Amino acid sequence: MVEPVSVDLLVHAEFVYPVDAAMNVIPDGEVAIKDGAILYCGRRKPEGHWQTGRVVGGSGFAALPGFVNCHSHTASVIFRSQTDDHVAKTALLDVAFRLEKDITEEEWGLCAMLGTAEMIRAGITTINDIWYAPERLATLVAQSGLRAQLAYKVFDVKLENLRDGDYSHYPDIGERRLADGIAFAQTWNGRAEGRITTRIGTHATDTCSQTLLQTARDEATRLGFGLHIHCAQSSAEVDEIRARHGCGPVTYLDRIGYLGDDTVLAHLVFATDDEFKLIAKANAPYAHASTIYPRRGRYPDLAKILKHGIRTGLATDWMLNDPFEAMRYALNGARMVAGSPQALSCDDALYLQTMGAARVLGLENQIGSLEEAKYADLILVDIDQPHLQPYYGSSAALVYYARASDVKVSIVDGKIIMDNRNIPGLPADLGVDAIRDATPRWRSQLQRYGSRAVYGEGCTCW
Ligand SMILES: [Zn+2]
Repeated sequence: MVEPVSVDLLVHAEFVYPVDAAMNVIPDGEVAIKDGAILYCGRRKPEGHWQTGRVVGGSGFAALPGFVNCHSHTASVIFRSQTDDHVAKTALLDVAFRLEKDITEEEWGLCAMLGTAEMIRAGITTINDIWYAPERLATLVAQSGLRAQLAYKVFDVKLENLRDGDYSHYPDIGERRLADGIAFAQTWNGRAEGRITTRIGTHATDTCSQTLLQTARDEATRLGFGLHIHCAQSSAEVDEIRARHGCGPVTYLDRIGYLGDDTVLAHLVFATDDEFKLIAKANAPYAHASTIYPRRGRYPDLAKILKHGIRTGLATDWMLNDPFEAMRYALNGARMVAGSPQALSCDDALYLQTMGAARVLGLENQIGSLEEAKYADLILVDIDQPHLQPYYGSSAALVYYARASDVKVSIVDGKIIMDNRNIPGLPADLGVDAIRDATPRWRSQLQRYGSRAVYGEGCTCW
């Protein structure tokens, strides 16, 4: 008689999606977890093979790697519905950049709580965040059980002045913010049992001077931190960099020695073919925030970016933190740009939201797929929902039809951080009450800055 193998947790599922190289789908599968890591992922072993105190899932569930969100602003929920009829330039310069300076650290903490809850409930197990008050988010990451790469937002312009074309750089602002960003990175790197790692978050190519970008690059290299930056995101940014340096934002970053394999580039909406080549050559990873681009009316050519061999992952960026929506937007966006449904497959979308995004963060050996020895970061999706039946099992069943609210269980490092949609590490109301209290104050501030705080743009169809 063979002794049973002792494990901490067993996850059973009607279908397991390991997101391995073959993109296998395992019917009647299981994931065995010990000491926070995956000991086994495959077909269910016979009764008595494992000895464990807890089994979750079973028939009616799909198990897949937790989603990796490789570019986020968890606390940016404050802008929801306020810039959705705007082009990128006015959304950022007129509304977001002006409001941000009025928000207190405590208020960012409230927003971070809400965003953290939303991320976990949508099946996200890892974020890569750049924002204000990162200590608040780091604390929430530690207490909720999420995994994160975190950075403080570093720049040296007065963001509120950009709408007037005033791109004056203030070295004292840049030096202070970079020092604060480095201090944050050094303080929090490796905290929360190693779930938190840190980056230097130079905000964007136009909101940092060349000196600030180069100093940040040097410091990141010296201290061993990766970088994170918005690049070729808006026409305002591209116009400013062209006027200043005579080239596009990617070319500029390459020329000043900023690009590297540790440099997460978000957006690339306005990047050119030649710039894609520069990115591929530098092996710089790319965060594709699919839900943002269609609402601004311009979608980057994702299929072409992938053909260039650029390491790519999906990201939610701000306001809509739903990876199922991110996968659907990516599929539809890429197919519309290419004029072909073959531009991106459902397997591609699932890969980009898990393993692809893990590669963007340099975590591909630790997370992103359900393979032995990796950290046990996975989710269970309830597939018995009417909108998911009949459930045949291909990845399209999840990617085109599942919803964030179908995620019932989330596991990080082998610990259950969400159980039947409850998040034990966060307050029961998930921070909603405090947000409701603050909403009237934010509404009046937003209205001052030209948002659509109550009324929309008006309907031209009526
Ligand atoms: Zn962003």
